[in-house]
Amino acid sequence: GAKSYSFMLRTKNPFGDVPNRLYLVMDDLADQFGTGTLRLTTRQTFQLHGVLKKDLKTVMSTIINNMGSTLGACGDLNRNVLAPAAPYVKKDYLFAQQTAENVASLLTPQSGFYFDMWVNGEKITLDEPEEVVRARNDNSHGTNFPDSPEPIYGTQFLPRKFKVAVTVPTDNSVDLFTNDIGLVVISDDNGEPQGFNIYVGGGMGRTHRLESTFARLSEPLGYVPKEDILYAVKAIVVTQRENGRRDDRKYSRMKYLISSWGIEKFRNVVEQYYGKKFEPVRELPEWEFKSYLGWQQQGDGGWFCGIHVDSGRIKGQMKKTLREVIEKYNLNVRLTPNQNLILCNIKNSWRRPITQALAQGGFLEPKYVDSLNVTAMACPALPLCPLAITEAERGIPDILKRVRAVFEKVGLKYNESVVIRVTGCPNGCARPYMAELGLVGDGPNSYQIWLGGTPNQTSLARTFMEKVKIQDLEKVFEPLFYHWKRKRLSKESFGEFTTRMGFENLRELVDKWD
Ligand code: SF4
Repeated sequence: GAKSYSFMLRTKNPFGDVPNRLYLVMDDLADQFGTGTLRLTTRQTFQLHGVLKKDLKTVMSTIINNMGSTLGACGDLNRNVLAPAAPYVKKDYLFAQQTAENVASLLTPQSGFYFDMWVNGEKITLDEPEEVVRARNDNSHGTNFPDSPEPIYGTQFLPRKFKVAVTVPTDNSVDLFTNDIGLVVISDDNGEPQGFNIYVGGGMGRTHRLESTFARLSEPLGYVPKEDILYAVKAIVVTQRENGRRDDRKYSRMKYLISSWGIEKFRNVVEQYYGKKFEPVRELPEWEFKSYLGWQQQGDGGWFCGIHVDSGRIKGQMKKTLREVIEKYNLNVRLTPNQNLILCNIKNSWRRPITQALAQGGFLEPKYVDSLNVTAMACPALPLCPLAITEAERGIPDILKRVRAVFEKVGLKYNESVVIRVTGCPNGCARPYMAELGLVGDGPNSYQIWLGGTPNQTSLARTFMEKVKIQDLEKVFEPLFYHWKRKRLSKESFGEFTTRMGFENLRELVDKWD
């Protein structure tokens, strides 16, 4: 049937930036060629499911002509570059977003192949800053294939997909440490950006029952002055291109290279391509998870409004209301790495009517949404993803309700929350290994349970139990939350609690529970 030819399409939107016209086009395309829903991904992009092969060319050229390139959305090259979505008019935020754009540009394939295929050879001119072109073409340290149309990728591209995130100190809305490269803008006392801390070697994907595959947090590589950042990023990418494993895709992410070499050797090799030594990373304040939900000032007189979208799926009344508001006020939109949406550049006088329209639909934070939903994430899984073993997106609403019911039963208040993430397989697309409570599909209707992540996404969870049947989740949740309620230290998060108690002790408590 027609279904078997249906395609999934992802857009590329550095820092989740979606101009007004592109939002409206995506909204139309979802109705005309997709499944009638818009899905926001955990990498600040749109995903359009159910596009038929015969419509693919129309859809791609419509998107490209409306400024939302689809390049780099899949394949063994750089994926969408994350950066904080908030439209704050602050020097460091703007610089992080500009850097995300430049890195995306630097690592975009150069050959005409992609464009020609979809827009009949019509040349789309990319507006690239000169510094990007210069960095891409620079071969002073032997990084390039000078005669190739792809000076950085050559014919082989990279061993595997590659992920980059950029942010500012304290703002970990981007899950910084799960990326191959994480960049943090460092500013001087006047708030003027000066350079970057660079972290390398994060990644979530792993394979069940294969201990040699693992989720990993990135670690500090060094500091570079801001004018060197594209050269440093390129040197890292080239190091992975030359040395990452290509014989087995299970081990081809850069995290395995760094883990087998150790960071010292990795740094030495990168420095040869970079042509300089890295400085030591600068000290940073504590990280926080920022949701940007609700109304906030941008800093230029305008306002923005962050809206929670369950599992990133915009459908039904929500789709209708958002379209009306976005169209009427000509709003630009940003997508967050937590699959939420931000309406930008709102004038003070529009706040009232927009609030009314959103409240009518029941989409305004924080009144209507359980705090568990605000930080929860799930991957698409069944029926959309061929790798899925269990439900994730379709199952998470019920799982969250059951967690809330357990909270009530053991006496945890309504404002208490934990970060819950669910995926249909170990590939970990919704970053479950950073959750305080991660569920990872490991068999029909069963999950591995991961514990030990923190609310600000700075520590890696570990496997707590395996093969827990979906109907038996309470047998694990109840004892854990019961003891958290009674034995926690002041303000201790669930993740910190499970780590402090130790998994052996917790397993005993679960075993003894009736
Ligand atoms: Fe598919 Fe697995 Fe990714 Fe979920 S985590 S979307 S099941 S590959």
